[in-house]
Amino acid sequence: MPAYSPEPFRIKVVEPIRLPSPEQRKAAIRAAGYNPFALKAEDIFVDLLTDSGTGAMSHYQWAAIMQGDESYAGARSYYRLAEAIDDIMGFRFFVPTHQGRAAENILSAVLVKPGQYVPSNMHFDTTDANIRARGGKPVNLVIDEAFEPQNPHPFKGNMDIAKLKTFIERVGVENIPFGMVTVTNNAGGGQPLSMENIRAIADTYHGYGLPFYIDAARYAENAYFIKLREPGYAQKTVKEIAREMFSYADGMTMSAKKDAIVNIGGLLCLNNEEVFQRVKNELILREGFPTYGGLAGRDLEAMAVGLYEALEEDYLANRLGQTAYLSARLKEYGIQMIEPPGGHAIYIDAGHMLPHIPQAEFPGQALSVEMYLGGAIRGCEIGSVMFAHPDPDTGEMVYPKLELVRLAIPRRTYTQSHLDYVANTIGEISQRGSQLRGYKFTYAPELLRHFTARFGPL
Ligand SMILES: *Cc1c(COP(=O)(O)O)cnc(C)c1O
Repeated sequence: MPAYSPEPFRIKVVEPIRLPSPEQRKAAIRAAGYNPFALKAEDIFVDLLTDSGTGAMSHYQWAAIMQGDESYAGARSYYRLAEAIDDIMGFRFFVPTHQGRAAENILSAVLVKPGQYVPSNMHFDTTDANIRARGGKPVNLVIDEAFEPQNPHPFKGNMDIAKLKTFIERVGVENIPFGMVTVTNNAGGGQPLSMENIRAIADTYHGYGLPFYIDAARYAENAYFIKLREPGYAQKTVKEIAREMFSYADGMTMSAKKDAIVNIGGLLCLNNEEVFQRVKNELILREGFPTYGGLAGRDLEAMAVGLYEALEEDYLANRLGQTAYLSARLKEYGIQMIEPPGGHAIYIDAGHMLPHIPQAEFPGQALSVEMYLGGAIRGCEIGSVMFAHPDPDTGEMVYPKLELVRLAIPRRTYTQSHLDYVANTIGEISQRGSQLRGYKFTYAPELLRHFTARFGPL
């Protein structure tokens, strides 16, 4: 019996990777200021920093790239993408953008006025920043279970409908340009939402006359979770489920670097014609002509094919099987993670693994650095390096609830032996965890400091 459903593809092109020696790893991480973001990618053996744009395209996608129509306006590739979007999502209008955040930027520029609120289950950090950049206030109204790491709730990405209604009543509909939801909830551990919840969110927004936009970065993974976990959906195809999900919304933003399995691209789709006119004007200013957005014709072709491939059930079974498998393997070593495993990533509780390292000394950073030293594996700290900040009133440090290290799995890129290698390396680290020491900043910028900070070992 295989541990999870086998890859529904075989490998035709390979990209060699190399395991640097322990001495080379020591030198590389020291030169990077003990910040894995500053490592050279070629010094990494298994790179689980992100699943964004890091997936492997199929030979159908590469063949489509050769058919890219690079006409400035009205390219054939645009119409091919339009057909796919009409078929899968069913929105009336769309524009391509260079990434998800460009779609968020345009939507915020067109709709958000200073002082207005945009509710969601949890905004992803680029969405949060784009709303703030227009003077708006992003608001997160996910269910409380999302904050209980060991709670196995099947739809931990759900929005709290009672909280949403109270919130809308309190701030007033005139202060909300539109409502959102992130599918799956990336900032909350890649957790899905149920169709029942998505329907209730739509009914609530629409009941107050508010337009409803979905951040659809991982729409296919969410649809497959619904098929597996929600009563009444087992017999439906993932595409039917996705289509139902989008039928409740008035528009969507999407990073195509996720569930369109391309290396670059984004989408903004919507039904409102008047808003679409303004979107086009903003797009021309920032991205490009409306039939190519910030992309080349070949990118549109690859996206049109990838949108369908992400919906294939054998692919999704394998993909969700990978996160579940890695999670199960790490559990054999007594390692705690956010439960249940997310669609695209697992989140190790480094605070639980390294209880002797105080939050001020960054247990997540300590584990990330050790993963590199131990096996040239790169993950992403999501803990105090990213989130700890002084309280504006008291000046006292405020620490996040959890010290996490995220291992995101790129699509169709690594095999089970890579996952076993990762599990064994991290398992070995956890067994000698009490010997690990914390870190201190030697340089920390004010904003988004995890990207460029430098550290020294304590
Ligand atoms: C990645 C991501 C974005 C931003 O997309 P980019 O393509 O990186 O700009 C927005 N929302 C979610 C949920 C994401 O995962």
